[in-house]
This record gives sequence, structure tokens and C-alpha cells, in this order.
Amino acid sequence: MNQQVVDAGAGLSVSELSGLRENLNEQRAFRLDQLAQLWQGAPARAQRARERAAVAQLEVHIQLCASARMVLADVEAALERMEQGTYGICQQCRHPIEPARLRIVPQARYCGRCHQVREARS
Ligand SMILES: [Zn+2]
Repeated sequence: MNQQVVDAGAGLSVSELSGLRENLNEQRAFRLDQLAQLWQGAPARAQRARERAAVAQLEVHIQLCASARMVLADVEAALERMEQGTYGICQQCRHPIEPARLRIVPQARYCGRCHQVREARS
């Protein structure tokens, strides 16, 4: 049996073969140890991933709240301008805001031109 293994090993001597076996056994032990450590670390790793996902969700939530608050402020200001009879007048140049623009953005504070200028500046 041993003699057959030596023949299959392309002329390797018995001592070379046993050296390689030792090498393979060391690699096997190393990988088993590595896998055991990875397995042990899995729960903590999963927990950290969940925490990161929760933080990301919270950030999205905060961002949504912030933009909802901004739009609400614009909408309330537009309603106030309606009450005061200044609705549809550009807050910048005092010219009428284009009706087509108001149909799309009823809470618009500025005419299209002033809006573009402000956007370009910010
Ligand atoms: Zn304007």
C-alpha cells in the first residue's frame, strides 16, 4: 500500500512524502482553527451589521423628517400669502410667478428665473 503511494507521488521518497503529509496536516489544523474563530465571531459580526443597518435607517428617517418639515414650512407660508393676498408674487423680484410653475409647485416662493438664480448660487 505504502509502495503504491510512493509510485503515485511521481518519484517522491517516503521521507518527502511524510514531510508533505506533515505540511498538509498543519494546514488542516490552521484552517480548522481559523474556521472555529470565524464561527465564534459570527454573532458579534451579525450584531454589528444590524446596528449599522439600524443607524442607516435612522439617518434616512431623519432626512425624510427634515425634508417634510421644509415642505411643510413652504406650504404654510404659501397659505399665509394667500390670506394676505400676495400669493403668486415672487418674493425676490415681485413679479408674478408663472401659473404653469404654480400648478406644479403651488408653494413656490419665487418665479422660475429667480429660482434658477438662487439654485445656481447655493
Ligand atoms: Zn422672481
